[in-house]
Amino acid sequence: MATFKNCQSCGMPLAKDELGGGTEMDGTKRTKYCSHCYMNGEFTMPNITVEEMKERVKQKIVEFGMPKFIAGMFTGNINKLERWNRGK
Ligand SMILES: [Zn+2]
Repeated sequence: MATFKNCQSCGMPLAKDELGGGTEMDGTKRTKYCSHCYMNGEFTMPNITVEEMKERVKQKIVEFGMPKFIAGMFTGNINKLERWNRGK
């Protein structure tokens, strides 16, 4: 299985995930996604759009005290992640 450095849903570095990645229904690790996006074999927010995800992540980054332009740069790549590019 391919390993990813960043969650392929929100772009968060998986190294920063306190649980080290999402999980499948049987409890195995799913290291393509972080534990915030993917738990027990399904997305925690299955109906979120890429624009909503960008807003969420931007808010989180600003909450952590990062400048808005950094948040903008970071979230600018979210639509390139695998979750948002299925079928392409
Ligand atoms: Zn994530």
